[in-house]
Amino acid sequence: MLEDDPHFNAGTGSTLTSAGDVECDASIMDGETLRCGAVAVVKDVRNPVLLARAVMERTAHVMLAGPAASAFAREAGFPVHPNELLVTPAQRARFEAARAGAAASKTGTVGAVARDVHGHVAAATSTGGMSMKLPGRVGDTPLVGCGTYADDALAAVSCTGHGERIIQLTLARHTADLVAAGRSAMDAARAAVALLGNRLGGDGGLIVVSPSGEVGFAHNTPAMTRAWTAADGTIVAEG
Ligand code: ASP
Repeated sequence: MLEDDPHFNAGTGSTLTSAGDVECDASIMDGETLRCGAVAVVKDVRNPVLLARAVMERTAHVMLAGPAASAFAREAGFPVHPNELLVTPAQRARFEAARAGAAASKTGTVGAVARDVHGHVAAATSTGGMSMKLPGRVGDTPLVGCGTYADDALAAVSCTGHGERIIQLTLARHTADLVAAGRSAMDAARAAVALLGNRLGGDGGLIVVSPSGEVGFAHNTPAMTRAWTAADGTIVAEG
């Protein structure tokens, strides 16, 4: 649903590469089994996170990338979704402004963390990546342990922000380890984002849920829209 919403930098409405098209990255992880799946540099799939799930559920691999990921998508029944349909007028305008040297406003990657009644956790993240990225650039989002991580023994985490800096810190796994070491989910989120900023000058944010159901989030960017719900879908809080 968030990938289909053109307001977010994922699926439809993704930021554009320096070549002016969309290249999507996504991943998903199940904290009970540690199964995970990811796709990178996908240009013709409407919902990359569903393709990441198909990689997890239907292959012996963790990640597929580029044209081979698209070939797998076709085999798995995902119809061709032409790249032009992922490019929104707003992102085209941002691209033109960036090419002209103007500072462009930013839109957000989408991520989700979940915990069920049994204490099992899961995480998923999807993005169009950094705007004006080089074609073929892969960020933190599809890299397990960097942009996404889930382990019932630790926590579930989904990150957004400057992917290169997040990769350098394996930030999702680092945050989950802080929870396992006894920090609250909120405290772990804040400590991890502080590390990102203080150690590498990186901008970003993340969301966390612990196996006991604690929620945490933090960001050092001007904004990071977020919400969480109860099991019945009732919104508990948003901001
Ligand atoms: N982390 C994403 C990437 O580097 C971008 C973002 O979250 O805005 O690809």
